[in-house]
Amino acid sequence: MNLSPIPRARYDAVVGGARVAGAATALLLARAGLRVLVVDRSRRGSDTLSTHALMRAGVMQLHRWEVLPRLLAAGTPPIRRTTFHYGSEPVVVDIKDRDGVDALFAPRRTLLDVVLADAAVESGAQVLYGTTVKEILRGPAGRVQGVLLTDEVGRHHRVEADMVIGADGARSTVGRAVGARVLAEGKYPGSYIYAYWQGLELDGTHWYYAPGVAAGAIPTNERLSCVFVGMPPSRYRVQPAESLDALFQQLALECHPGLARALGGARRVGKYYPFAGRAGFLRQPWGEGWALVGDAGCFKDPITAHGITDALRDAELLARAVIRGTAGALAEYQAARDSFAMEFLELSDRIASFDWDLDDVKELHHRLSRLMARECECVRDFSPLQHTTSGSTADRIGGYRPLGSPVPIPA
Ligand SMILES: Cc1cc2nc3c(=O)[nH]c(=O)nc-3n(C[C@H](O)[C@H](O)[C@H](O)COP(=O)(O)OP(=O)(O)OC[C@H]3O[C@@H](n4cnc5c(N)ncnc54)[C@H](O)[C@@H]3O)c2cc1C
Repeated sequence: MNLSPIPRARYDAVVGGARVAGAATALLLARAGLRVLVVDRSRRGSDTLSTHALMRAGVMQLHRWEVLPRLLAAGTPPIRRTTFHYGSEPVVVDIKDRDGVDALFAPRRTLLDVVLADAAVESGAQVLYGTTVKEILRGPAGRVQGVLLTDEVGRHHRVEADMVIGADGARSTVGRAVGARVLAEGKYPGSYIYAYWQGLELDGTHWYYAPGVAAGAIPTNERLSCVFVGMPPSRYRVQPAESLDALFQQLALECHPGLARALGGARRVGKYYPFAGRAGFLRQPWGEGWALVGDAGCFKDPITAHGITDALRDAELLARAVIRGTAGALAEYQAARDSFAMEFLELSDRIASFDWDLDDVKELHHRLSRLMARECECVRDFSPLQHTTSGSTADRIGGYRPLGSPVPIPA
């Protein structure tokens, strides 16, 4: 058996979680010259419970980081049109050619997460799969100073780091271990079922809304379409696998007869993926020696399909703060994240309540659209991060130093 490599004893940053948030953060830190270790307890290329529509700001990030060509090379189809169906009323939005982006994409997570992690490795980060963050190590004054890892054969490794980053999802081990406070909570977890279909031949993404239900059809890799239905938890009971089909078809019909008809002429490939729901939350994303990014710091109901785009945006906001290396920079990371996250959380929660009529949901979408336009401006304004590959860590990143906390950490 090939044993996984042993991590070094010390890094500038250790990241728990190697999917969109963790791999993207590691990629940017490594490109800036930091010594970065990323660990994930899952296997390389494993799937995760998620549909995978990217919004414009997310595609802009992948374009800026030069990883988009790899998604295209893997056959990810460009999405040039989005249609919102409010009952029987369609509203068509063509994707504009702006900022080097003329299409949206919805790559499978088995592809996107690997592409980002591989790019992080090529930029100098070390990525270890099958490796779990078990504990946080603290110094005498309580500052987080590293992690205790367990690898796939059960060996323990003590690793020190200036910064421990939790990109380990909504149930974040790092977030729990550091006692990250919950700053805001959603009230309405929606329930979802999705599956992959062959033969839908979509002309773009379709989002459907009808009283008490929602659905979406999203073109993805291998000429498949990811189709989901959403409902309030009162309609979702833990379903035996064989009854998921009936509930799925019923909801598709309630949402839009055209969707139900199209599914009737298509073939489902693989199983149904049910998600009972989880209420949204926003956690304090940093403290002495630690930070959270992606779902670890903020989870929103997936009805707005924005978690991946958020993770990519916040990965860059966090990487820039870690590179600057001051507590003030981390406070700015939080302020920038929250200026988006609070409103995305609120809007996702309101749509996930399913307590709206079609005019309400249209208005909520207009707010979302304005928020996404501001998000694109934020991403557009990022100056290029310097790519550096030689010299000492401090030389490479122009004055990086371990965080000194001159600014008080919020109570
Ligand atoms: C049903 C559903 C549909 C969705 N649809 C969309 C959509 O269409 N578009 C969109 O943008 N978003 C969508 N989302 C949200 C999106 O999936 C998340 O926002 C995104 O996955 C967050 O990425 P992340 O990297 O922060 O965390 P995750 O993807 O959760 O990755 C966390 C990683 O950390 C690892 N990990 C956990 N604990 C440890 C530990 N102790 N040690 C080591 N590794 C650990 C896990 O193995 C995992 O690989 C959806 C979510 C759901 C549930």
